[in-house]
Amino acid sequence: MSMAVNPKPPEKMMFQLTLRRRGISDQAVLRTMEEVPREVFVEPRDRDDAYRDSALAIPCGQTISQPFVVAYMTERLQLHKDHRVLEIGTGSGYQAAILSRLCKHVLTIERYRTLADSARKRLEGLGYYNVEVLLGDGFDVPAGAGDFDRIIVTAAMEQIPDKLLQRLEPGGILIAPVGPHQGAQTLVRAVRTETGFERKDLVDVRFVPALPGVAREM
Ligand code: SAH
Repeated sequence: MSMAVNPKPPEKMMFQLTLRRRGISDQAVLRTMEEVPREVFVEPRDRDDAYRDSALAIPCGQTISQPFVVAYMTERLQLHKDHRVLEIGTGSGYQAAILSRLCKHVLTIERYRTLADSARKRLEGLGYYNVEVLLGDGFDVPAGAGDFDRIIVTAAMEQIPDKLLQRLEPGGILIAPVGPHQGAQTLVRAVRTETGFERKDLVDVRFVPALPGVAREM
């Protein structure tokens, strides 16, 4: 009896190659990028482009990030299997899906109900049960949610709120795009040390803005 070999579709091989060529080297991150089906998170019209290294439009005027940026931010978070992670800006749910394969639990917050609901459905459909999608405002994370080992913000903040930094466990890492809503933003990594926070600028990026409050939808 011959084993059924499932050859990798060419677009997925290119996807891996592009990530490696751009400098992603963490094997667990690369494997996860290969496993999580990005085509489930893009709009049906964009399925053929799901494995191109580009951001794509999703409902409510938002975007699903470029795969390289997702992989890069994930790699810089240095996740462990026992981590509790907070994401601000669920969008399609793709970044949350990637995180969920590499840690214990993800709480992801989204200000558009339409996006929160469809992300929740996708994640459940894939059996990614360790992700909780919350409709809410990432500038006002419920106190009851506790503190986090890692925090990832996927919408641009003009500055990182101190309130958010205070939600990091000791030794915790936060990554956020910081800068004006229109124009150049920088990915910033902050590590909580015994005495305060160590901040480092990583790379220039372009994200949709983080806006306060739950969105009012028509
Ligand atoms: N991580 C997403 C892409 C995020 S796009 C993905 O993988 O698809 C940024 C998202 O942040 C948008 O959906 C936007 O509505 C949301 N957002 C902006 N400000 C927010 C806030 N204050 N709280 C929660 N979500 C916010």
